[in-house]
Amino acid sequence: MRGLHRLPDPVVLRDPAAAMLDALRDAAPVIRAEAAGLDEDGSFPQGGLAALRQAGLLAAPLPVGMGGAGLGTSPDGALPLTNALRLIGRASLPLGRVFEGHVNALRLVLRHGSPAQAEAAARDARQGRLFGVWNTDGFGEAPLALADGVLRGRKILCSGAGWVERALVTAREAAEAPPQMLLVALAPGERADLAPWTAQGMRASATGAVDFTGLPASAIGVPGDYLRQPDFSGGAWRFAAVQCGGLEAVLGLLRAHLRRTGRGGDPHQAARLGQAAIAAETARLWVVAAAERAEAAEPASDVVAQVNLARLAVERAALDVLELAQRSIGLQAFMRPNPIERVARDLATYLRQPAPDRALVEAAAHVLAAEAEPGDLWDR
Ligand SMILES: Cc1cc2nc3c(=O)[nH]c(=O)nc-3n(C[C@H](O)[C@H](O)[C@H](O)COP(=O)(O)OP(=O)(O)OC[C@H]3O[C@@H](n4cnc5c(N)ncnc54)[C@H](O)[C@@H]3O)c2cc1C
Repeated sequence: MRGLHRLPDPVVLRDPAAAMLDALRDAAPVIRAEAAGLDEDGSFPQGGLAALRQAGLLAAPLPVGMGGAGLGTSPDGALPLTNALRLIGRASLPLGRVFEGHVNALRLVLRHGSPAQAEAAARDARQGRLFGVWNTDGFGEAPLALADGVLRGRKILCSGAGWVERALVTAREAAEAPPQMLLVALAPGERADLAPWTAQGMRASATGAVDFTGLPASAIGVPGDYLRQPDFSGGAWRFAAVQCGGLEAVLGLLRAHLRRTGRGGDPHQAARLGQAAIAAETARLWVVAAAERAEAAEPASDVVAQVNLARLAVERAALDVLELAQRSIGLQAFMRPNPIERVARDLATYLRQPAPDRALVEAAAHVLAAEAEPGDLWDR
């Protein structure tokens, strides 16, 4: 039309978190396909990690100003991180575990490290280096210790061992002393002993022991920072999100089985599928609510109580979905190479997280003491 200038196409500024989630959705089939072939002791989802790197996920936890998308380091990142953890967990629980540790480590360094340590960690993450948090000392062993700038001792249950290049570990002067966080640089493959990892599931998580004796380390924050609340307990929403992805994978496999066999119209099968769908959505709703509260820096006691309940709600939902799926599918659910056989083992193993009884008791104490009506307790 004469006289009217054609308006330029609107410039759509993509939200970096949304762009990363799109990239992750595109990568999910590759991650899932690799996971199916990795059910071996000592294996690791190398291709999946490369896909996360390619999609920008290893830098995503950094604040936007540092080249990330604030996933896990800003309130706005709560929902996209929840979805990222679910998507990864749905495709590969071992990769989800490893990515969750990466997010946790970066978050701790950014929160408690010096500006120079934060900048160095951000650079490493942008270069695609994998981080991890290794806190578990061997039962009956002296805790990992630092003397004259050099480490002595080892950690067990280190997932991503041999792949993590920046390990955030905890060291103590004595068993009851507050833990000091330390960042240790490792070369790929260095010092990883995966032989002790004989677990039923999560075989591809490269979980093993790492002996740090003689390695240098730099202190992050001060003793006790690692246990600071609400982050210490509140961070459990992230593993719950990965578990939620795992239970969604089981639900998806159950539905595929019912479609394939034409058994979904049977009223018993339909009822179990419906119950599993309720459980999966219950888990997702709990995780989203807990994530949003935890990342909004609300009062520590509220965060810890809600996250404690959320992680147990997810555990319950996952156990229910596993039972419903195994009952519906029958023996085939226990036969290799049916994917549900592996995913169920991975999920059952990954559901084992520290101190579930204490989480419930502490949350119950919070409900008991609260002034608000129980029905209003989780309003925000
Ligand atoms: C796949 C996988 C990867 C992992 N990767 C890492 C990692 O990278 N870094 C890391 O640090 N850790 C890692 N872990 C370890 C994890 O953080 C937990 O330490 C571990 O899963 C705890 O499981 P648990 O069942 O032995 O817990 P526990 O806390 O021992 O719980 C077992 C049972 O004992 C009860 N219980 C706990 N304490 C007491 C008590 N004092 N008295 C009586 N009962 C009690 C619990 O309520 C529960 O019923 C990993 C674990 C898994 C499964």
